[in-house]
Order: sequence, then C-alpha cells, then structure tokens
Amino acid sequence: MSGLPPNWRPAQDELKNKTILITGATEGIGRAVALACARLGAEVLLTGRNEAALESVYDTILNEGGRTPGLIPLDLRITQHEPYDELAETLLAEGLAIDGLVHNAGVLGERRALSQTSPESWQEVLQVNITATFLLTRALMPLLERASLASIVLTSSGVGRRGKAFWGAYAVSKFATEGYMQVLADELGGTSHIRVNSLNPGAVNTRMRRAAYPGEPPDSNPLPEALTDKWIYLLSDASASIHGKALSAQG
Ligand code: NDP
Repeated sequence: MSGLPPNWRPAQDELKNKTILITGATEGIGRAVALACARLGAEVLLTGRNEAALESVYDTILNEGGRTPGLIPLDLRITQHEPYDELAETLLAEGLAIDGLVHNAGVLGERRALSQTSPESWQEVLQVNITATFLLTRALMPLLERASLASIVLTSSGVGRRGKAFWGAYAVSKFATEGYMQVLADELGGTSHIRVNSLNPGAVNTRMRRAAYPGEPPDSNPLPEALTDKWIYLLSDASASIHGKALSAQG
C-alpha cells in the first residue's frame, strides 16, 4: 500500500499559481520533480550546491516555456542557521509565498557497519539529510504560512522505516526524517493550513541508487521521470486532506 491514489494524473495546469521550492534540484529525483512542477505551471525555486547543474535545469525550464525559476545556490552542509534565515528573509522581501517545499537533497554516506563509520561521514549525512531540513523549514515557515494551502514533502526511504545492517547514518537520518514529519504534523494539525508528509521513492534509477547497489542493472528500476506524479499529487490541492502520513511512491 502506497497510501496514494494509484491512477491519479495531474491536470495540465495543476500547479498554476503555486511556488515550489525543491532542494537538490540539480539531478535525480529533485531535477525530475522540478521539471514536472514547472511543466504544470508552477514557479519553481531551484536549490542545490552545483551551480552549473542548477543553471542547466533553469535553462531547460525556460526552453520548455515554463515560468522563470528562482535559482538559489545552497550547500546543505552549512551548519549555521544564518544562511537559511537570510534566504528566507530575501524571499519574504520579494513578497513570495511558498506553496510547496520538497526536501529532496540527500547523501548516502558510508555503506558500512556503524562501528566502522567515520564521525565525519556520520555528521555530514545527518547534517544534509535531517538537520538542514530542520533549519530550512524553520526559516521558511513564514513563507509557508503566507500560502493558502501549503504542502511540505519530506523524502524518506525504506531503510528509514525498517532498520537494515550497513545502512548506517543514512538509515538513521531517514528514521529522523519520519520522526520530524510526525512531530511537525502533530504541531501543525488543526491549527495550520500547512500539511506535511513523508514519501519513500522506492528504488529509482539515480546516481545514489547506482552507488548503493553497484551490482544491480540500473535499468531494473524506473527513472525518476516515471514517478513524479506522486510528488505532484502531494504538492497539489488534490491532497489537501493528507497530513502526517508516511507514503510510498511505489506500492
Ligand atoms: P541523487 O544522488 O541523484 O541526487 C541527490 C541530490 O541531492 C543532488 O541534487 C545533490 O546535489 C543533492 N545534494 C547532495 N548533497 C548536497 C548538499 N550538501 N547541499 C545541497 N544539495 C545536495 O539522489 P536521488 O535523486 O536518488 O535522491 C533524492 C532523494 O531520494 C534523497 O533524499 C534520497 O535519500 C531519496 N531516496 C532515493 C532512492 C533511490 O532509489 N534513488 C530510494 C530512497 C530514497 P549535488 O549535485 O550538489 O551533489
């Protein structure tokens, strides 16, 4: 059970008038979701640390006739809160509201036993995969509150729902993502028009999957483009009543 309607398809202008910020929009799932949002009429705010890759997504959106995206270089390894707060202040000053926030960026870290995991790798994975989620959401809350019906989508993983040997800090960070989602959902429930859910993509043919499973034929998993409707559903008003759920993109 994915918890999502299996046959839902977006209307051509499903995300018209929405502004959606996506982390890790440079490649893989984040890039595909960003392009899909733009094709459905959204203004997308592209964030990532690789500026050339961000510019390439920006150019693709413009070449396809999409709305001019925002381009926001942001390295989520930054531990201080100030850059996240400054970004939010800039967007607030521009009069923006954020209707959708997709926390997609992630790193795999070391695939080895916890006792063999280096402290540096542990800290980077926890920083990028969950602490940055906290810092960015905290900073962007006033922009999410400005939207009439905002949606936060957190990216989970199967190993964030059932622990598995040698998935180390990555699995722990995804358990933390689920915990963060539950706490935030409980805080927002009943008092806010902001909803928050987690989505496990399942196995997807991206750089991260290929690194995690080097012996697996890459084409045994779907490309991110085949799954973007799941993210679109959660970002659209069609999912207005879905809040606090741990969902899966692939059954
Ligand atoms: P990719 O490795 O293809 O993409 C990861 C993205 O995160 C890239 O855009 C990358 O940008 C960005 N990123 C990494 N580190 C940072 C950083 N320090 N600051 C800013 N951005 C950063 O992975 P996927 O597309 O596969 O993964 C997307 C999400 O889906 C992740 O959260 C992952 O855990 C999750 N997931 C993926 C699965 C899969 O099978 N693919 C399965 C389950 C979960 P850069 O170019 O700068 O490195």
